Amino acid sequence: MAPPKDRNAENLADLRLRSRQAYLAKREQEQLALLERQVADEAQELRTNSKLSDAERREFAKNRETLKLARERLAIDDHTTGYLVPDVDLSDKTEILNRRSNEEYKSEVQQWEDEQTAKVKTQISRGGAKVQQDDYEFVFDESAAPQFVMDAASRLDPEKAKLEQMLNAAEKKAQSIEETRKSLPIWAYREELMSAIQDHQVLIVSAETGSGKSTQIVQFCRDFGLTKNGMKVGCTQPRRVAAMSVATRVAEEVGCRVGEEVGYSIRFEQKTSDKTVIKFLTDGMLLRETLTEPDLASYSVIILDEAHERSVSTDLLMGLLKDLLRLRTDLKIIISSATADSIKFSKFFSDAPVFNIPGRRFSVDIHYTPQPEANYLQSSVSVVMQIHISQPLAVPDGPLSGDILVFLTGQDEIEMAEQYLQETTRKLGGRIPELTICPIYANLPSDLQAKIFEPAARGARKVILATNIAETSLTVDGVTYVVDTGFEKQNVYSAKTRTESLVVVPCSRASSNQRAGRAGRTGPGKCFRLFTKYAFHSEMEASTTPEIQRMNLTSVVLMLKSLGINDLVNFDFMDPPSPDVLMSALEQLYGLGAISDQGGVTKIGRQMSEFPTDPFLAKSLIASDKYGCVEEVLSIVAMLSESGSLFFRPKDKKLLADAARARFNNKDGGDMLSLLAIWNQWVDADFDPRWARENFLQERTLKRVRDVREQLEKLCERVGIQISSAGAADHVAIRKALTAGFFMNCCRISRDGLAYRTVANGMSVYIHPSSYLIETRPKWVVYYELVLTSKEYMRGNMPIDPEWLIEVAPHYHKRDQ
Ligand code: ADP
Repeated sequence: MAPPKDRNAENLADLRLRSRQAYLAKREQEQLALLERQVADEAQELRTNSKLSDAERREFAKNRETLKLARERLAIDDHTTGYLVPDVDLSDKTEILNRRSNEEYKSEVQQWEDEQTAKVKTQISRGGAKVQQDDYEFVFDESAAPQFVMDAASRLDPEKAKLEQMLNAAEKKAQSIEETRKSLPIWAYREELMSAIQDHQVLIVSAETGSGKSTQIVQFCRDFGLTKNGMKVGCTQPRRVAAMSVATRVAEEVGCRVGEEVGYSIRFEQKTSDKTVIKFLTDGMLLRETLTEPDLASYSVIILDEAHERSVSTDLLMGLLKDLLRLRTDLKIIISSATADSIKFSKFFSDAPVFNIPGRRFSVDIHYTPQPEANYLQSSVSVVMQIHISQPLAVPDGPLSGDILVFLTGQDEIEMAEQYLQETTRKLGGRIPELTICPIYANLPSDLQAKIFEPAARGARKVILATNIAETSLTVDGVTYVVDTGFEKQNVYSAKTRTESLVVVPCSRASSNQRAGRAGRTGPGKCFRLFTKYAFHSEMEASTTPEIQRMNLTSVVLMLKSLGINDLVNFDFMDPPSPDVLMSALEQLYGLGAISDQGGVTKIGRQMSEFPTDPFLAKSLIASDKYGCVEEVLSIVAMLSESGSLFFRPKDKKLLADAARARFNNKDGGDMLSLLAIWNQWVDADFDPRWARENFLQERTLKRVRDVREQLEKLCERVGIQISSAGAADHVAIRKALTAGFFMNCCRISRDGLAYRTVANGMSVYIHPSSYLIETRPKWVVYYELVLTSKEYMRGNMPIDPEWLIEVAPHYHKRDQ
């Protein structure tokens, strides 16, 4: 029988595979030299540590040497990064001494190292000859396996057993919830914090991520009677995922279902009821609520959580709430922040007191790459594998957790990294411990979000692939290793060209430090930065620019105007936006007919502000009433707002996916009408998931479109828009309605037949390669959005007849253009 398959053998088999690849790696020499230097440095450190005996030092040195050989195999990969993953921590002297007290005892690591050394030697002596793959194949001998016999007397009533099991699980959960709550740093300050809230109208709470700000303060408020008479405690989050996730957690802690006592409200999704007194909502949603309830009379407390993120809605809320305080002297405002910005918030709120909750954070070793990384995505995958293979796994109930958190910039990158990791782990199979991959990004469906909070199974390691949402918004325990790519997606707006683009930019030093901090929550950690130390100090900004200074403010201005705030220049902004951007927003709103010559909101403007979409989509909806095609425009608007993640294109089925996509092409109507075709066919297929799969469409995106559409339809009724339909044939009516929303985004093809020129400012723009119009290139188009990658690309395009421009926006387009 072949020797049993064990961890050492698995690791060894893996190392064999990797060592063969390693010989091919281009950067092998550099890596080895670097390794040599590092080992020499470490040996030097050991020699100079006077607390160690000679024997200990020798043993350390021997270990280092052995590890060195192992690392030579480990640190090299087909897409190697400049890292050397630090080895297993040998500084724990007690473990070493215990180990030595029994000469026969060899730790798993030692055995592995010894076998590794031996293997390397044989490989060298064989001249790198192929090692037999089946050396360690495990053969299960069934006849040798122990057999079990059920004792009839102890047979359990299965129903009873099930109940007992459920009860036990519930008790355990309840216990651990209570214990967990009490172990949070904020718990010890419960009374003090509440008395500060009672004494002051505004309080700034500053505490490390994971102290319990988001989950506990709301409950303290409830426990101290602030939700009496059905008054609500509202807690805002800049991100939808955080609002949902924290609400779920708090509901669990309170012992209710989400939507009962604890609920949430995010755009297009509301989980609240009459019973809801703890309400999590995106800051944008609270802003919308101020439209219908300007004095926020149903709230006793408003907590602006994650205020340090400086999202545009949180900034606006700060200005509005500051004003509201005079009117609502009973209202409590808590500004919660995870960073040291508290003084700025305090100043803004007329020197409001700052309540500091000392955090616990363990030290985190920071590692930089010696050279800039050409491909941070691949590098991050490679580092994850290096950590996974070389670093110890979690010890159940021990201090070491061992999970990995990787910061990437968005869903697309996360999905790609997930795929790479799956491929790599599949190839290595049972030779490495299991790696559980948990993605987390803004659009992730809620059922998948919970996964990031579940501890990894025994013998497995969890790797969380996250956007900057995991910087402070979501606290994930158990992370020991952070891999920081140093980038994030940011909205950048240029008032001059009127283009808004989501671009990947280096994150700030403050963000990067927050990311590193995530490795030190449960114990000492390590952070691997995929950039150089030089870049950190010289190429990254100290802190992120507030969103209000880098986005299109058309929606914001419409919102403020609808709230009756006409004097925008004198609005109490914490950091005011640039006057150019405000001006451009006013011009666009005027163009859309949302504000009058005098700057007041028009009837159309008021209707538009009811829709939580961008003003161009809202305007199209309103115009569709006139053209009798509300049904169709509703579908297109809902599809457009979700079109970014509609199709999927598996690597091995690209041609099939492209063919499926081509079937929806509506030549006359371009992308916008093709989206309508997709929607209609999904409806005809009775929302069948199989149909979606067969057509390479993401079912969850389609489902979201359905939700968005439903909500928009309800809002149409609220603003007095009758639901009408133009039928399938009348595309012109639909296209005219859409042109009424997007006329400012119209372009004409230039003489070279490739570029288009925008009518608004003569800028050169191009049809995005994924557009249905890439081949036909009609003379005139309007686009939904511009994305800046290698060029300014138009997405969501629709051919138009220029005559329509005069019809839908006579004040904006003149015939002689
Ligand atoms: P802070 O707001 O100070 O960053 P939180 O209140 O978000 O801290 O987190 C406190 C604790 O609750 C953390 O240990 C975190 O892991 C846990 N927690 C938060 N949300 C969830 C969730 N949805 N599921 C499980 N645990 C959670």
